[in-house]
Parts: sequence; C-alpha cells; structure tokens
Amino acid sequence: MEFLAGSLLELIVQTSTNLPPDVRAAMSMTAAAETPATQSAQALDIILSNVDMAADDTGAICQDTGMPTFVVHTPVGVNQIHLRKAIHAAVAEATRLGKLRPNSVDSITGKNSGNNLGPETPVIHFEQWEEDEIEIKLVLKGGGCENMNAQYSVPCQLDHLGRADRNLEGVRKCILHAVWKAQGLGCAPGALGVCIGSDRAHGYELAKGQLFRTLDDVNPDANLAKLEAEIMEEANKLGVGAMGFGGKASLIGCKITAANRLPASFFVSVAYDCWAFRRLGVRLDASTGAIARWLYRDPARKVEKLAKSEGFALTGREVVLTPPLTEAQMRALKVGDVVLITGEMFTGRDNVHAYLMKNPPPVDLNGAVLYHCGPVMLKEGERWTVKAAGPTTSMREEPYQADVIKRYGVRAVIGKGGMGAKTLAALKDFGAVYLNAIGGAAQFYARTVQEVLGVSLMEFGIPEAMWHLRVKGFAAIVTMDAHGGSLHADVEHATGAALETLQKA
Ligand code: SF4
Repeated sequence: MEFLAGSLLELIVQTSTNLPPDVRAAMSMTAAAETPATQSAQALDIILSNVDMAADDTGAICQDTGMPTFVVHTPVGVNQIHLRKAIHAAVAEATRLGKLRPNSVDSITGKNSGNNLGPETPVIHFEQWEEDEIEIKLVLKGGGCENMNAQYSVPCQLDHLGRADRNLEGVRKCILHAVWKAQGLGCAPGALGVCIGSDRAHGYELAKGQLFRTLDDVNPDANLAKLEAEIMEEANKLGVGAMGFGGKASLIGCKITAANRLPASFFVSVAYDCWAFRRLGVRLDASTGAIARWLYRDPARKVEKLAKSEGFALTGREVVLTPPLTEAQMRALKVGDVVLITGEMFTGRDNVHAYLMKNPPPVDLNGAVLYHCGPVMLKEGERWTVKAAGPTTSMREEPYQADVIKRYGVRAVIGKGGMGAKTLAALKDFGAVYLNAIGGAAQFYARTVQEVLGVSLMEFGIPEAMWHLRVKGFAAIVTMDAHGGSLHADVEHATGAALETLQKA
C-alpha cells in the first residue's frame, strides 16, 4: 500500500479546498437567480469569490473544517486496522499543513488535541463489500450547520405549521420547520439529508448519509422523489436568503431516505449542511492504495471560476470604520449599512467569552471590534499567518455578549447568523452594533488580514485563542443596530408568515 498515505492526504486536501461540481453548479444557479444588489446577492458574490480563491490557493474553503467523517468500503481481506491508522495519520498531516483546523476538543477538560485526533475523532464507518477496490468517501461538516440539525418525534406541534402527523404530510412539515429554524445560522443556503423513521441514533446517521448523494440525482423511490421536489420548491419560497439576509434561496438540495421504525416511534431526522458542502470520495487500488478514480469530480476537467466579479462590489456608499470606535459613530449606523473596517480587531469566541465573565480582558477592549472567529493559523518561523478566517455562529455567545459590551466597552461585534434580544438591548443601551460577515468566506476574509499583531489566551487552543489582527477593507453588513433594529428578527418574522401561507396552501 505504498500510495495509501498520499491518496488519503489528497482526498482530505481536495475535500477541504475544492467544492464538488454539483455544489458549484447549485451555488452558481442560486446566485444567478438572486435579485441583484440585495444583501443576499452581495453575500453570494463573496461566497463565489471565496470558492474560487480556495481552489486557486488550495486553502480551506471555510475555516471550520468540521468533524471529518469517513465512510469506507473494503473488499474482504483488507486490513481495516491498518486503514484506520493511515486515515489518522493523514488527518494529522492535513492539520499540520493548515488544510484542516484543529477541531478535536476533549469534552471533559476542554483541551484541543491540536491534530484532529482523539476519542472518536475522526469518525470512520467501515463496511465490507464484494468489489475489488477500496472506496473512501469523506464529508467535512462544520459546527455551525451541525448545530442546526433537528430531530422530530411525530406527532408534534410546530410553530407556524400546526400539527405534524405520522404521514408524509407530517414529514413535509417537519423538514420545512427545520429550514425555517435554521434561518442563516447554518450559513444558508443549505443542503438537507433526511431520514424518515429508524431510531434516534441511527436516524441521524442515515440522514447524514444522504449528504453523500449528488444534489442533482433523483430519488429512486417515487414518493420520496416527489417529497424532495416539493421541499425544494416550498423551502425556496420562504425567503431565508443567503446567510439569512432575506432572499430567494433557502436550500440547494434535499435528499431523503426512509428506514423501518418501531411501532411506538416515528422520528424525522434532519442533517443540515451549509453552502460550504464539502464532500468527495475516491476509489483506491486495494493492493497499492493508489487513487484509481475520484467520486463526484473529474480531476481532468478544469475547475471553472464561479465568480463573475471580484467578491464584494463596492458602491462608494460603504462606511469606513477605523477602530477604536466611538459611541457616536455606532449610533450613526443603521441596519443594511455596509461597513469596511480598516485597523485592529480581536477574535473571541466561546472560551474567550466565558473567560471574560470571570476575568478582565488581556487587552483593552474599549472601542474595540470583537470578531467571533476561530481561524486556521500556521506558524511560519516566528510569525503567525492566517490561513482561513471567516465568522463563526454568534448565537452561542448570546448568554455573555451583553455583559461583555457593557463591562469592557466593545463597540462592534462581528459574526454570522445574528444574536438575540439580550444583545440587541445592550447594543441600544451602550451604543454598539452587530456586523454580519459572510459565513464560510474564510479565504476572502483571510486576505483582509495584513498582520497578526499578537495572541492572548493561547491555552484555549488555536481556534479559541484571542488573536489580535490588523485588517484592511474587512466588509460586513450592519444587521443589528443601536436603535433596536434587527434584520434577523425581521427575516424570522417574515419567513414565519411565509410558512403559514404554505400551511394554508
Ligand atoms: S460555511 Fe458556515 S456553517 Fe458551514 S462550516 Fe463554515 S462557518 Fe460553519
């Protein structure tokens, strides 16, 4: 198996950096159909540029490279213990090269292993089969979309949709409800894998397994094919839009399977993947480990550029912000304004926010910009460089954010997906804003970082440390302002009304 290590590394690198053709085609169609010059269209422009940048530079499409999940089929006689060790080694090497973010955290101590290895990470499912080759499929699904997975036990009562019964109509309601609940938190537009039936644990596994189908395939079961088509049509009438900004697209795919269940149980399990839908596979020669062929992509075909323009088309109406920021500057901003930040900012996510509840900040946060981001960083000599740096889901910081703003004078919080009522009230009371950056646009934002000025709280590990960055032209949209305005609340309300229309239709 002299080629096995190289083949596995290539599979991981390509999956992390090069979106498969079916997802590219779906995102291209989504962008073409969006109303020009809307916030959703601007987000899609950045997303498409980011996909191109990632493929050009073999950089991670999104900084959250997720829980690596491998599905492996082996001919009888192949040593699975050997294969598992080789997959572990390839995952560690891809992490060392900055193609995967160190994402494996001890759930008891909170310590990051630093190499994506640890109890039950990566996830590897083995199956035997009667073919001669080894097949390895890989999906990298990030935490933001993983947190948007949903499981329903029907019959149940759903917001805006009423009762979901134990039939396909009830299943339809559950799936639409999951799309509505996700809003932009999972970096819409998303792709769904769904399982009807099974038990709780296996239902989720089967739902995730549906993400290995290509977006343009047709379900061989006529009932499920019909349901998939209905969901695509109806979900895309809800108006979630890219990043939940409001717009035409909510989904780029919906794939459904059904499994037998216990008489007493009826689960609908939904695996929500984001637009950064990273999934590839290879067939390997079972004696050498060499790649016999790729699944989902044709490496001989040139990767076509997706973006029609260079990322974010500037209009001249953007507000340039140079931290430290003042209360007056923040109160002058309104929902919908586009800002360009030039100057210094600090990253801070879950561990940093928890730390700030009990300890003073390691840096002066007065007038500061706090970026919810867990970047991919590499140390080259004595210098840190940013390899990927998009926003993470802000809602996780909702229990802390208002206090952080109040205690330390933070003026702008950047993240994705928006925040809740407590933060909105703090923005109003203390004169600050929430800025939505484009989720998953890790290469786009990494290019705005001119210098890594320092790092604090490194004991939390690379994604959770507080990085001190100097950026230039960092673009984001004001989605929560100091006047009580929230685009997220508006879109949630409007899409809820749209769900009710579908219910009555
Ligand atoms: S695109 Fe968004 S949801 Fe997907 S992995 Fe990246 S940050 Fe998470």
